[in-house]
Amino acid sequence: MVMGETKTYAGGCHCGKVRYEATTDLAQVITCNCSHCSMRAPILTFVPPEQFKLVCGDEAELGDYQFNKKNIHHLFCQQCGVESFAWGTGPSGKMYALNVRCLEGVDVSALSPMQVDGKSR
Ligand SMILES: [Zn+2]
Repeated sequence: MVMGETKTYAGGCHCGKVRYEATTDLAQVITCNCSHCSMRAPILTFVPPEQFKLVCGDEAELGDYQFNKKNIHHLFCQQCGVESFAWGTGPSGKMYALNVRCLEGVDVSALSPMQVDGKSR
């Protein structure tokens, strides 16, 4: 895998009910130490809505977990429980946060995530 390259990835949950396509550059990924991330250890990449397409599944049918400031909708599959993506509204509008571990064909051990201090926010 070449770093610093924008590519379109297929991703989704464990059971396959949720499937999406997303275009992103995995040179900039993060991990976070907030109470929710510390339990699940996702590696995250962020994309605007035009770089994210749900190809299978319906956002309205997913579990929607919110905590703390409730800015972020943590959408998880009701069948397998995996949160393959989430969305929130930031200064630049709606953004999707994708769990890189749910993208196909990614060697996560080759990534260099930046650690974000979500715990203190
Ligand atoms: Zn599932």
